[in-house]
Amino acid sequence: MTESPVLVGMSTSELREWVATQFWEPAYRGNQIAQWVYRRAVDSFEAMSDLPARLRTRLSEVALITPNQIDITQRSRDGVVKGLLRLSDGNEVECVLLPYEERVSVCLSTQVGCAMGCRFCATAQGGYTRNLTTGEMVDQLLHLQRLSERPITHLVMMGMGEPLLNLPNLVRALHLIHEEVGISMRRMTVSTVGIVPKIYELAEHRLPITLAISLHAPDDETRAKIMPVNRKWTVETLLQSARDYFERTHRRVTFEYLLLREVNDTPDHARLLAQRLRGVPCLVNLIPFNYVPTPDQYQRPEVERVQRFRQILEQAGIEVSQRMERGHDIDAACGQLRGKHRGKPIPLKMSYSVSH
Ligand code: SF4
Repeated sequence: MTESPVLVGMSTSELREWVATQFWEPAYRGNQIAQWVYRRAVDSFEAMSDLPARLRTRLSEVALITPNQIDITQRSRDGVVKGLLRLSDGNEVECVLLPYEERVSVCLSTQVGCAMGCRFCATAQGGYTRNLTTGEMVDQLLHLQRLSERPITHLVMMGMGEPLLNLPNLVRALHLIHEEVGISMRRMTVSTVGIVPKIYELAEHRLPITLAISLHAPDDETRAKIMPVNRKWTVETLLQSARDYFERTHRRVTFEYLLLREVNDTPDHARLLAQRLRGVPCLVNLIPFNYVPTPDQYQRPEVERVQRFRQILEQAGIEVSQRMERGHDIDAACGQLRGKHRGKPIPLKMSYSVSH
């Protein structure tokens, strides 16, 4: 890890204090630096043209804007850009830029690797290494901003790792991105596999974000097979935490539902799901599985099965969406790029859909 002060991760007030105490500069220089770092996403002190030349030189001698580098980027034909961010300790995390017509979204990681062991996930196969710092989360967004032709408008914390197991750093990062970069919290989504006590803890923060819970099955038996986390917290316990989350935040929850052929995609699963979600203000987001080599060799369901599943939910009055798939021609599923880069090749031709 670097010993030099790193600016990404510092708030405007921290930068004000830092320039005043370290350089005997007026505190407003801290506001200027924050503007350059977060709003304009520059990666050199030289670019900070409204700072005096002597201060720019001094800053470049003692501090770093970021110690991290985008190591590999891939650009798909539909505009998706995938970054593999090399951190100062040599670890790597993935981040993705997803431009749509009306918005530009990013998907960010919160941990190096992941300990949750979801059976359908490429990241799970590499195990857990460590939590990311607040600055490392924000830095992914800034690196992606430099690669984007338009300003980033939305973010999802749905890359590598379980965000709620890194809650203090996560909450700080969301605040920093809101206050310094200027992205509204209403345009932020945090995805979790369902760490129930942390859902209650997150609700205490009363953030106007969207909470996305990866449900993926309506019954404990099926869910425990694909998500070890269910051995600790049952579906009912999880749904109760979702109800509580709504009551405290007035934000309806999104339930992510990854459809795996013959595993959790039958009409019976759909009917049970509809029954269990009755009275829970929510949206169900269906995600047909895209092939990732996993120990259980899950398969993608046929279009007709997905349609039937969706129809049953909608007939029960549940609002349903289906995740738009992007980046088919690059390594765009969670954990793929990092796995490949570390010498564990994973086939191409996957799309950005498998995470949490
Ligand atoms: S799906 Fe998400 S929570 Fe599950 S193992 Fe992969 S990164 Fe971790």
